[in-house]
Amino acid sequence: MSGEATIFDRIIRGEIPSHKVYEDDHVFAFLDISPLSKGHTLVVPKESKAYLHELSDESAAAIGRALPRLCRAVLKATGATAYNVLQNNGSAAHQAVLHVHFHIIPKFSREGLGIGWHPSSLEGEAGKELAGAIQDALDEASK
Ligand code: AMP
Repeated sequence: MSGEATIFDRIIRGEIPSHKVYEDDHVFAFLDISPLSKGHTLVVPKESKAYLHELSDESAAAIGRALPRLCRAVLKATGATAYNVLQNNGSAAHQAVLHVHFHIIPKFSREGLGIGWHPSSLEGEAGKELAGAIQDALDEASK
């Protein structure tokens, strides 16, 4: 466990009640207590890590397997046809609970996630350099 137990650790352990929708060896999912829309669901690895980049491959694979299944179930149960999957890392990126979690947020006409998206543009040379730097970092990480 990294640091102190978070509220999500306590929910996973059953110390705090939740509206559970799914559980397996590595994953726990439950309804968000302050939903942006009907069916807003949180999908959480049982592994207690604050940020996505800290997750083990095992947890990441389990989350990857569960997420699309949970999305299908949320759509079916709510009748939504559109949704956002949101995953915040760091307080500057609006993360309030320091335990990795994915939000599944159904989008109805007005209900759901509002997005402020202010794109800039990617110039050719800078893009090439940046893509290379990320590739190098990946190569480093897999050594
Ligand atoms: P984030 O800003 O990505 O860290 O989102 C944290 C989410 O956890 C928020 O949407 C909260 O409403 C939700 N949350 C916090 N406490 C609980 C709880 N006890 N049960 C269910 N959801 C919770």
